[in-house]
Amino acid sequence: MQRSSCIFCRIADGDLPANRVHEDDEIVAFHDLSPQAPTHILVIPRRHIVSAEELTGDDAALAGRLLLVAGGLARSEGIAEGGYRLVTNVGTDGGQSVPHLHLHLLGGRAMGWPPG
Ligand code: AMP
Repeated sequence: MQRSSCIFCRIADGDLPANRVHEDDEIVAFHDLSPQAPTHILVIPRRHIVSAEELTGDDAALAGRLLLVAGGLARSEGIAEGGYRLVTNVGTDGGQSVPHLHLHLLGGRAMGWPPG
């Protein structure tokens, strides 16, 4: 897939607007357009990776950093104390609608289980 046809690549590249809350050389985080909780942030790698299913051993450090950035945002957004949920949907049955790896950071309300 070309970067120009992936909406999250375009957000990472600054070609599409987003309400950014973090960026570094590998990772960008921004508010979800359609929030499902009072805090709903997406944490993405700049590199186009379709989903967690595509990660390899070479991506171990990046995968770890995605979790660390999400945890840092949970603290800076004030939801860490109450608790929060990290979700990554994979493929059709996983409910993934954007084929670029992303962690959903959800918090600010109690979450139900099991997820729908
Ligand atoms: P998923 O269904 O797990 O692939 O999640 C994709 C998420 O991306 C959904 O929660 C959408 O609301 C969100 N989304 C789609 N387009 C944008 C956008 N341009 N800016 C911010 N969030 C978006």
